[in-house]
Amino acid sequence: MLNQPLKDTVTRLLPQVQTPAQYIGGELNCVVKDHRQVQGKLCLAFPDTYTLGMSHHGLQVLYTIMNNDPRWACERAFTPWLDFEALLRKHNLPLYSLETFTPLRDFDLVGFSLQYEVCYTNLLTMLDLGRIPLHSKDRTLADPLIICGGPGAQNPEVLAPFVDIFVIGDGEESLPWLMEKWMSLRGDKRALSRKREEVIAEIVGSTTWAYAPMFYDPELHADGTIAAIHRTRSDVPREILACNITQDFDDIKLPTRPVVPFVQTPHDRIAIEIMRGCPWQCRFCQSTVIKRPLRVRSVETIVQAALESYRNTGHNEISLLSLSTSDYPDFEELVKRMHEVFNPLGVNISLPSLRVNQQLRSLPKLVKGVRKSGLTLAPEVARDDMREQIRKKIKNDDLFEGCREAFKNGWQRVKLYFLIGLPGERSVDLDGIVDMAEHISAIGKEVRGRYVEVTRISGTACRRANIFSGPASICASAAATGRSRSSSTTSSAACWKVF
Ligand code: SF4
Repeated sequence: MLNQPLKDTVTRLLPQVQTPAQYIGGELNCVVKDHRQVQGKLCLAFPDTYTLGMSHHGLQVLYTIMNNDPRWACERAFTPWLDFEALLRKHNLPLYSLETFTPLRDFDLVGFSLQYEVCYTNLLTMLDLGRIPLHSKDRTLADPLIICGGPGAQNPEVLAPFVDIFVIGDGEESLPWLMEKWMSLRGDKRALSRKREEVIAEIVGSTTWAYAPMFYDPELHADGTIAAIHRTRSDVPREILACNITQDFDDIKLPTRPVVPFVQTPHDRIAIEIMRGCPWQCRFCQSTVIKRPLRVRSVETIVQAALESYRNTGHNEISLLSLSTSDYPDFEELVKRMHEVFNPLGVNISLPSLRVNQQLRSLPKLVKGVRKSGLTLAPEVARDDMREQIRKKIKNDDLFEGCREAFKNGWQRVKLYFLIGLPGERSVDLDGIVDMAEHISAIGKEVRGRYVEVTRISGTACRRANIFSGPASICASAAATGRSRSSSTTSSAACWKVF
């Protein structure tokens, strides 16, 4: 149900802000439901700007799943830029969803996706602008349930006072379950006489993957790190495990009708998740821990989903998404099939996460004929000996030969991701980053007759205490393109044990 008065007011203000199209909704494939026809409404809140949020594949996945259920209306909200935030505050307007201009406080559930730690304070901004009490303890049953998922939820204590429930693992199963449970318990007449915390205790007490910090008491070491976490009541889980999809991964419907933004976004393309998890276990990598086990989609499912998405969006690029795309078991067959189907349509295939191994040398030939976007590789460090220490089993020679083949086959740009600040890092490791970039650029000159563009993105993802957080790629790209108001923290856990 559209909140027309709020939409009209916002529309009058939009000429005063940059990129107004990000605040008005109505994009191709967005789903607008009549709230009177559904049993509950939830808002997927991305605690960063619209352009970054709309580039996040997980948002499109959950948006599709929840809207496919006729019982729910699932809408979206993002952190406004500072200019629009100031206008909302000046005119005393609430933050709203893009589909119906519904203020966040009027949803039944608001789910935040924490993709990186620098967005933590944006979550507080959104709660505040959305007129939802900041602290969990100040909310009543009339307020929405505030849940958080994503990699940032692995490190929940930072946001513990503000979030009702953290969820680790796959959202495809946990979000529908939580929505249903919350709505049924809150709608139960007995709930009227119950306190909000009793309802939340009943929810988390029926799962193994939901963590409600209000029922746990952290014990700290002298340096402020966590020594143990104690339960304050016995009917909530003692151990929190990741929620894993139980059905066949291939059967989970892909979002083939994704919302197409009006404004340009960093990932302005179709994304097809071909595989979840990674067969490798690099020492610093959070993703390989939290995305286990390894699950794959079949070649035909991927091709059909890509074709459907192409018809529903008109995008001219398809990204085959996974943590390590070249480790997909039927990689050659997949690339050949995609090539057969999409080359005649002039659609570019991009392979965003390639492992630098022997296979990289043959990859450029496989995708010959397709329009070339930049090659993105993650050597992580510049020297083989340091790479052995972080258990990343790749060699510089493979990287250089892979780039040589890529240049021969038409690539002109290479983007390299590095980690800096690793325990035991030496100056030669840092100098090596520059040497590596120069060497690759020189290979480009040798092959193509002119230097190629090499972009190096470095990020500090590790701390001295040997606690490792997410890949630099995530941290660095967020820092490079997103708004960042908070300081970074660390995280690494597939489950938490409490005592
Ligand atoms: S860094 Fe990449 S290859 Fe290594 S475990 Fe993580 S996702 Fe896999």
